[in-house]
Amino acid sequence: MNWSAALLNAGECIEREWIGVSRPHPARLLDGDSRRTRPPFVPDALGVAYCPRCGGSTGPGEYIEATGCGACRNRRHPWDRLLRLGRHHGDLREWVHEIKFQAWDAMGMELGKRLGRCLRDAGVQADAVVPVPASAWRRWRRGIDHSRIIAAGAASVLGLPLARAMKRQGRKPQRAVSPSQRRENIRGAFSVKRMNFLRDCNVVLVDDVTTTRATLTEACRTLQRQAGVGSITCAVLTVAEPGRDGPAQPAADLF
Ligand SMILES: [Zn+2]
Repeated sequence: MNWSAALLNAGECIEREWIGVSRPHPARLLDGDSRRTRPPFVPDALGVAYCPRCGGSTGPGEYIEATGCGACRNRRHPWDRLLRLGRHHGDLREWVHEIKFQAWDAMGMELGKRLGRCLRDAGVQADAVVPVPASAWRRWRRGIDHSRIIAAGAASVLGLPLARAMKRQGRKPQRAVSPSQRRENIRGAFSVKRMNFLRDCNVVLVDDVTTTRATLTEACRTLQRQAGVGSITCAVLTVAEPGRDGPAQPAADLF
C-alpha cells in the first residue's frame, strides 16, 4: 500500500472510531424516539409495496399477481422470491451506505434482524442463510464484511446456520460500471468453496443492495451449478430503482 492510501485508511479508522462513539443505538433509530421527532422505520409490505418475484416497487394502483408484476411476469429468475426492507432511498439508503463504507456493523446486524423478521413473516422455509461475498481485498479495504453481518442478523432471527459457502474474485465494483456492463463484469466472479453442505438445501441468499439483479443472478447460478442447492430466496436491504433512486436506465437492463 502506498503512503497516501495508508493515511486514508488510518483516517477512516479514526473516523469510524469517532463515529462509533457518537452514533445512537441502531434500534433506537429504527424504532423512533420517545419524543416522536423521528417516525419508526416500517419495512415495505410484500406483495403490496413491491413485487415478491423481482423486488421492484409497484406502480400506482398496480395489482401484483402470483406470476409477478408487469416488469417481470415474462422473465425467468433463478430465485423463487426476492424480499426487501425498502427502496434505496432516504434514511435506509444512508444507513446502508454507513454499514458498507463506514463499517457500521451494529446497524448491519440490526437491519439484518429486521430482514430476518420479514422473511419469517413471509413464511420462508430454508435450511441455511448464505451471504453474497465481497472479495478479500474489498473486505480488508472497507474493514467490514457487510453482507456476512447482515446475513448473520437474518440467520439469528430465523434460527438458521450462516453458510459462507461462496468466495468472490476481485473485479471492478458493480457501481463503477454501467448497468448494461454489470452482467459481464460479475460473470464467473463467484465460486463455491470446496467444503460445503448445501446440496438440495433451500437457502436464503443475502445482499445489501440490488439494482440490476446481475450480482444476485450470478450468485444464484453459482449456488445452483456448483453447490446443487434447491430453492433460493433472495433477501436484500434495499432495491435501487433507476429513474427513481438514481439515473434512469432502460427497463431491459434491470435484470
Ligand atoms: Zn416483478
